[in-house]
Amino acid sequence: MIYLEHVTKIYEDTKTMALFDINMRVERGEFVFVTGRSGSGKSTLIRLLIKELEATRGRIWMNGAALSGITEKGIPAYRRTLGVVFQDMRLFDDRDVFGNVAFVREIVNPSRKDISRRVTSVLSLLGLTDLYKRRPSQLSGGEKQKVALARAIVNDLAVVLADEPTGNLDPQSSAEVMDLFERIHRRGVTVLVATHDMEQADRLGHRRIVLEEGRIQKAIR
Ligand code: ADP
Repeated sequence: MIYLEHVTKIYEDTKTMALFDINMRVERGEFVFVTGRSGSGKSTLIRLLIKELEATRGRIWMNGAALSGITEKGIPAYRRTLGVVFQDMRLFDDRDVFGNVAFVREIVNPSRKDISRRVTSVLSLLGLTDLYKRRPSQLSGGEKQKVALARAIVNDLAVVLADEPTGNLDPQSSAEVMDLFERIHRRGVTVLVATHDMEQADRLGHRRIVLEEGRIQKAIR
C-alpha cells in the first residue's frame, strides 16, 4: 500500500538531511506507527507521502502509483484519496461538527441524502453523535481530534495518515483517539501514525518503525 525505496530528503535551505535512505513498506490493511523523537524526520515522512514535499532522492509509491508521476495539477485529486489527520486539527470554526465532516463529503458527492447518511454513520462509528451540532470552539482537544478523524474517513478511503494526532492531548484523550484509529483499522483501512507517544504505540502493539536522525533504527513486530 505504501512503499518507499531509498528515500532521502534534504531541506536545501538549511542543508538538513531530514531523512536518509529510507526503505519501508506498509501492507494493505496494516497499522504501523512511525516513532522517534522530535526532529527525527516523522513529519517529513508524512509530508512526502501527501506530496507536500518532494523527495531529494528515491521513490515512493502509494496504492500502486508512483508519486513522481503525479503532476502539480494532480496533487489535489491525489490528496483526496488519503485521509490525513494533523496535530492541529484544522477544523472550520464557522461550521458545526456535522458541517465540518460534511464539507469533505460534499466534494466527492453533492447528494444531500448521501452526505447526511455518510456523516451520520461516521459520527456514530466514532461516538460523536451527541456533539454533531457543536462548533469546534465548544469541543475539547480530544473531541476536536475525533472530528478530524471522522473527516478523514468519511469518504471511505483505503489509507489514513496521521502526524502527531495526539500531540496536543492529555493521556486519557490520547488513548481515546488512538482507540478510534484502531477501530478504523479493524474496518480494513491501512493506518500510518507518526507519533512520539511511545506509550500509546506500546499499548496498541502494532509494528513500529523507529526513526533516529532521519534513519530507520529498528522495526519492532
Ligand atoms: P519530527 O516530525 O520527527 O519532529 P521533522 O521531520 O519535522 O521531524 O524534522 C526533521 C529534521 O528536518 C529536523 O532536523 C528539522 O529541523 C528539519 N526540518 C524540518 N522541516 C524543515 C524545513 N521546512 N526546513 C528546513 N529544515 C526542516
